[in-house]
Amino acid sequence: QAKSQGTGQAQLFRATMHRQAMERLQLEEELRRAVEGDELRLWYQPVVELESGRLTGFEALVRWLHPERGLVMPGGFIPLAEETGLIIPLGAWVLRRACRDLAAWQRDGYGGFSLSVNLSRAQVAQPGLVQTVRTILDESGCDPGRLVLEITESAIMANALQARETLEQLRALGPRLSMDDFGTGYSSLSYLHQFPIDVLKIDRSFVQRLEQGEEGEQMVATIITLGHSLGMKVVAEGVETPGQLAVLARLGCEYVQGFLYSQAVPRDQAGELLRAGVMSPAPAGAPESSAG
Ligand code: C2E
Ligand code: MG
Ligand code: MG
Ligand code: MG
Repeated sequence: QAKSQGTGQAQLFRATMHRQAMERLQLEEELRRAVEGDELRLWYQPVVELESGRLTGFEALVRWLHPERGLVMPGGFIPLAEETGLIIPLGAWVLRRACRDLAAWQRDGYGGFSLSVNLSRAQVAQPGLVQTVRTILDESGCDPGRLVLEITESAIMANALQARETLEQLRALGPRLSMDDFGTGYSSLSYLHQFPIDVLKIDRSFVQRLEQGEEGEQMVATIITLGHSLGMKVVAEGVETPGQLAVLARLGCEYVQGFLYSQAVPRDQAGELLRAGVMSPAPAGAPESSAG
């Protein structure tokens, strides 16, 4: 009996594996169609100067408008895109869309803000990246000095020597560079100065710990001091509460991004935010869903 039960479990296991493999294949096929077709959207989340409330930039965040599944967040398809290599055409689409939108806003007279675009590890490792960025910048006609490329610590550390050269070449094209999710990637702090990084983004997990006692605050204070001592601008990610904002202000963090101000919004709404120019935090206690 134990034996037949074991066999049954093995069959069930194989059936599950099979179903998961089929679902994955289908998702891959759909994602391929999405990248080639018209199903991707680029939304924009404001970055705000803490002291003044001035809107100083946006981070471009990709969404997939799936015909049946509805709005799919990046967590639901970026990992698959990375595994399958689809991240290369997807990443190029994102960069092209972002640079076009930036150029259009600049033509409308909004020159004083920056636009950040995420690059994945596979993009940074790809030999054609610098040429792709050069071509897209040229075609779009945007001011490259207003573009920021966000790279995670782990993407850099995966191949530090190659990454450093790539980053230097990218920077020579005009964009500034930002280290995303800082604090999560196990890089030693002393490593940081070896890379041409202009902006340090404190990961949301640290911001969350700000109201949970002395230690969390110490950690964020250290990151801010480190960034400033290396001449970097520091952005706190994932700011959700007035309490977190107050601590960040006290610690001298200059820029914040998070649901307290706004979620990512479609391009037209982002244009309206640009027209307004300043943002205020949602009142304390407001439900999160009302922030976007
Ligand atoms: P990320 O680059 O660290 O982007 C910030 C993420 O945090 C976004 O999630 C944003 O919506 C979310 N966020 C911002 N403020 C708050 C907050 O106050 N509370 C909470 N709970 N979340 C907040 P999103 O859009 O789901 O993107 C997740 C990740 O997917 C990004 O993390 C980035 O790593 C990746 N991603 C998004 N768009 C792209 C893209 O165009 N290309 C690549 N390669 N990766 C992308
Ligand atoms: Mg980012
Ligand atoms: Mg981040
Ligand atoms: Mg993140």
